Amino acid sequence: MNNKLYGDLIFERSHTGRKGYSLPKNRMGHYEVPSSWRRTTAPQLPECDEMTVVRHYTNHSENNFGVNNGFYPLGSCTMKYNPCINEEIATLPQFAQLHPLQPSSTTRGAQAVCHLLEQALCTLTGLHAFTLKPFAGAHGELTGLMVIRAYHEQRGDTKRIKVIVPDSAHGTNPASAAVCGLEVVEVKSMDDGTIDTEHLKTLLDDSVAAMMMTNPNTLGLFEKRIPEIAAMVHDCGALLYYDGANLNPLLGVCRPGDMGFDVMHINLHKTFSTPHGGGGPGAGPVGVRKGLENFLPCVSPYHGNFAVAMRAYAYILSLGRDNVKMVGPLATLNANYIKECLKDEFLLPIDGLCKHEFVFDGLRDKSTGITTMDVAKRLLDYGYHAPTIYFPLLFHESLMIEPTENESKETIDGFIEVMKRIAQESRETPEMVKSAPHNTPIGRVDDVLAAKHPVTTYQQMKGEADDNH
Ligand SMILES: *Cc1c(COP(=O)(O)O)cnc(C)c1O
Repeated sequence: MNNKLYGDLIFERSHTGRKGYSLPKNRMGHYEVPSSWRRTTAPQLPECDEMTVVRHYTNHSENNFGVNNGFYPLGSCTMKYNPCINEEIATLPQFAQLHPLQPSSTTRGAQAVCHLLEQALCTLTGLHAFTLKPFAGAHGELTGLMVIRAYHEQRGDTKRIKVIVPDSAHGTNPASAAVCGLEVVEVKSMDDGTIDTEHLKTLLDDSVAAMMMTNPNTLGLFEKRIPEIAAMVHDCGALLYYDGANLNPLLGVCRPGDMGFDVMHINLHKTFSTPHGGGGPGAGPVGVRKGLENFLPCVSPYHGNFAVAMRAYAYILSLGRDNVKMVGPLATLNANYIKECLKDEFLLPIDGLCKHEFVFDGLRDKSTGITTMDVAKRLLDYGYHAPTIYFPLLFHESLMIEPTENESKETIDGFIEVMKRIAQESRETPEMVKSAPHNTPIGRVDDVLAAKHPVTTYQQMKGEADDNH
């Protein structure tokens, strides 16, 4: 990759009066813009020829890493398979060019797709009804918790203000509960990584509205005592919420509805394809068991992220009833293969069979001082996206790996070899690993500064540079 590209800003290539395109002569008449709307100074835009602009943006696009560039073993927030046929179907003009305010009599086909997808989700999850409206997983959680709150309130049971969340939960779980105005209570995991039912017992009473769970949990472990947990939660009058962001390991094998879950969301953008880097687009449909369907929202802007629903439906249909059952077992096989091949070099805090993902607690040899961050950065030099790092919070050096079902054995073997090489480098040339990445367009960025003071315009960037940031 070319390290000079980032210094090569389009503003610096500007030449006064140079143009990339000239508008044709206006033969349609002339309308005055009211003077109060008119700007008084010309906009400060770069003036460049067409090829300079095209090359500038093409070079920038090539600095991105995505599933179409290389292996992307990100755990939990899976960046999964995104078959090209989904894109073709989602961008068919008959669907893509619909207007949300079109009369509903003219959008019957789109409505049928939504209905059929809802039915497919019911079949796959064992729940009774779905809404496709929420725009993301977190939005689905909030919607689901509001459904649960409405259910308790309708029964006049207003003292239920707590939500129980495992200590291994995804950060959005406690956040959604708090946004919903509910109090978060944490339930501990045992040494084997699953929920401590003895601790749970002490938390359950008539002030609990719901318990949220992920199964397999964020350690990739299946919560085997789920029937017992469901009975305990229901016996105290609360509902059981399923975080189905990553439903892929269960598809066609078992169903949250059969495990005793009352309400759930699915991330269509993780489980049923749709690329979602950089925060979107997404869809977090919410499903409920029979008896709760009247609490699902019916008013929302339009029909949710319809193009994401289109991709999900195309993906489900292209897999079909039989192949959908292969997703979980193949992802599970791939995850266990990587785990077993690497556990001599990387520390496996919880041994045994995992599902679609697993967590290492950094390198086994802690004497080298090489951290999970260093390993993640060094992977970039070898052309691999880093796994999820420092999540879940149960370990100090979490490295969460999820290979997904669609990767070839050669790809997975390539990743294993590179991980082994990094472990070896950590012993032999640790400085080189600590200072990685060495061949990406930019090195290590200050994540905290970038999040707190995002610089998104050229002018500000210049100011920052003057300040020596
Ligand atoms: C990704 C994820 C979420 C949140 O989904 P968003 O679409 O990012 O809001 C919730 N729970 C789990 C387990 C996840 O992996």
